[in-house]
Amino acid sequence: MTEDNDGQPIFVIEDLHVSVEGKPILKGVDLVINRGEVHTLMGPNGSGKSTLANSIMGHPRYEVTKGRVLLKGEDVLSLTPDQRARNGLFLAFQYPMGIPGVVMGNFLRAAMKARHGEDLPVREFRKLLDEKLDLLKMDPSFVRRYVNEGFSGGEKKRAEVLQMALLQPELAVLDETDSGLDIDALRTVAEGINALRGPDLGVLLITHYQRILDYIKPDIVHVLLDGRIVKTGGPELSGELEEKGYDWIIQEFAPANAGVAPATAGSSAGGGD
Ligand code: ADP
Ligand code: MG
Repeated sequence: MTEDNDGQPIFVIEDLHVSVEGKPILKGVDLVINRGEVHTLMGPNGSGKSTLANSIMGHPRYEVTKGRVLLKGEDVLSLTPDQRARNGLFLAFQYPMGIPGVVMGNFLRAAMKARHGEDLPVREFRKLLDEKLDLLKMDPSFVRRYVNEGFSGGEKKRAEVLQMALLQPELAVLDETDSGLDIDALRTVAEGINALRGPDLGVLLITHYQRILDYIKPDIVHVLLDGRIVKTGGPELSGELEEKGYDWIIQEFAPANAGVAPATAGSSAGGGD
């Protein structure tokens, strides 16, 4: 790992353009995240939030037609998803998949090995795992279950936060970590993310709704609309969106799209996809 890049942003996106099946979705996204910062990306359904997350991780369906994505100064776009993960990127999916027959504990140990390139002795791994379970206030029985099999929405999200705690990424992208969660689960997940916040971690928290931001205070808030970041501000911007919905932003920045997206901040749960 190249280290000691103090002062250099951990993560930079420059003029990113992405197409899906030939259709341009992201139309020039710029973003700079410094170590220790939590950025929130908000926006109406269909604005391209998940497209950005998937492109950052290198999902093959998302074709980058222009731009750069730099982690610690290095362009990751030519790297495979697992190389990106090894370099310190972490993506929590909007819809985590189940892995029948694979026990959480074994899955996490394999993921650790993939990230750090070495097998931790079982006892050390166990100790680390217990530490993280404790930090995240999770029941140890959790790691004996099959990955995401029969997990509730909240448990799936918690499993991802646990994964993140163990892998210790430098830049974590969390896509709609709040979708489908009841308030208790939401609070637990938010507390977990807060417990992992620190001077070395950058976070890009993607959300349609403001409510998770009652528990995680972002440093910077961006609004994505029709594939572009049209507004950036402090935490007060999310409050404004909560209060006024997305319509005013659509009117101001993409009047041609007015009425296309279901854009009210308070409408029922479920992120777009
Ligand atoms: P958001 O996460 O902000 O709701 P998405 O990134 O999921 O938005 O979607 C943005 C646009 O890209 C939508 O018009 C959607 O239909 C399209 N899109 C995204 N992913 C795919 C995909 N895998 N296949 C086809 N179209 C997609
Ligand atoms: Mg989405």
